[in-house]
Amino acid sequence: MGKILVIGAGGVGSVAVHKMAMNADIFNEIHLASRTLPKCEAIALSVKERTGIDVPVYALDADDIAATSALIDQIKPDLVCNLALPYQDLNIMEACLKSGVHYMDTANYEPRDEAKFEYHWQWAYHERFKQAGLTALLGSGFDPGVTSVFASYLKKHYLDRIDTLDILDCNGGDHGQHFATNFNPEINIREVTAPARHWLNGEWIETPALSHKQSFDFEAVGEKNMYLMYHEEIESLKTHIPEIKRIRFWMTFGDAYLTHLEVLQNVGMTRIDPVMYEGREIIPLQFLKAVLPEPASLGETTKGKTNIGDIATGIAKDGSEKTYYINNICDHEAAFAETGNQAVSYTTGVPAMIGAAMILTGKWAGDGVFNMEQFDPDPFMEMLNTHGLPWQVKELDGPLTF
Ligand code: NDP
Repeated sequence: MGKILVIGAGGVGSVAVHKMAMNADIFNEIHLASRTLPKCEAIALSVKERTGIDVPVYALDADDIAATSALIDQIKPDLVCNLALPYQDLNIMEACLKSGVHYMDTANYEPRDEAKFEYHWQWAYHERFKQAGLTALLGSGFDPGVTSVFASYLKKHYLDRIDTLDILDCNGGDHGQHFATNFNPEINIREVTAPARHWLNGEWIETPALSHKQSFDFEAVGEKNMYLMYHEEIESLKTHIPEIKRIRFWMTFGDAYLTHLEVLQNVGMTRIDPVMYEGREIIPLQFLKAVLPEPASLGETTKGKTNIGDIATGIAKDGSEKTYYINNICDHEAAFAETGNQAVSYTTGVPAMIGAAMILTGKWAGDGVFNMEQFDPDPFMEMLNTHGLPWQVKELDGPLTF
């Protein structure tokens, strides 16, 4: 049905390309480009062994707009799926506009020198994509991504009005390392150490990073401490479902992870400003990334499950107040057996494949820049069930008490 160019050969890129190859009726041709060619080759080899599909690979620095556009012109894909890092978003969007191709990603643009997760840089491209008759789909991972579609699904089928929305992200997996992050360490640590922000009655409420803790009993994982954080889908959901009075995002962290992080922060290893080292500038967080385990290498040892979902309270179709919990539970070992990657990459790479399928099949179409909750949730939700991320909705006794 279509030809795709995936950019980025990390854990998420690996899962997405495997899942695309398993859906060859939609993805007729899959091309993979990334900065380090051997990483693309390793993914292509695994895909060939598991599915028999050939994936041509290319070395590409996606910070270079001209080089990216030239590769797009050479391959002529219908869609570019950006699974590199948030820093590349704007440059890849520029290259797509230059070459006249649809765009999608899983994480919003961030400037390198400031940990700011805001959509305005990418939303500013709306008119240009609209004029060009092209679609840009933002944030087709799990969170943002599935959590955004969960919200629009609840709104479409269960609640006429959503008053409060809590997104709960629990990774109950254990990788056996003293300290490692489940996706790109630089992006992960920038996100976790940023001040927390939630949306309340039309205003942002900012609190210090990791200062607000709540324990929660997650199905298939157990009782965990989760922490209030800022996450980018709060910004898009409060924009596209403006009735919501309160949106919060929670993520679980183990005590060992937090202790290591505190020490690393205290000694300056999470800084993102340059420091002089042996006559050259280095960014401490980038150096730290170089010594931490690659997220893609954690798959083999990670055991346990993730449980990510939305709890929404609002006015149901029958006029009464109701609270619903919609979530997915994903098993690290099953994810690894299927694609050779752990569940955090899996829960991001599968929705990336589904978002791409929505565009290639024309089920989601529009000229301009769109977030996930702006499209019909039903075909996306259907594919989650049949492609490895089944979900469940249940009614809770009442609203959250915290
Ligand atoms: P990784 O760090 O494992 O992979 C990133 C890949 O992008 C690497 O192969 C890297 O190349 C490549 N890359 C980096 N810079 C460039 C560049 N300039 N040109 C070409 N390729 C480049 O990250 P993940 O796979 O864990 O994450 C991928 C994306 O998914 C990130 O944007 C992350 O924020 C997002 N994400 C979204 C989630 C969601 O739920 N929405 C959850 C998890 C992640 P090299 O190997 O040379 O460094």
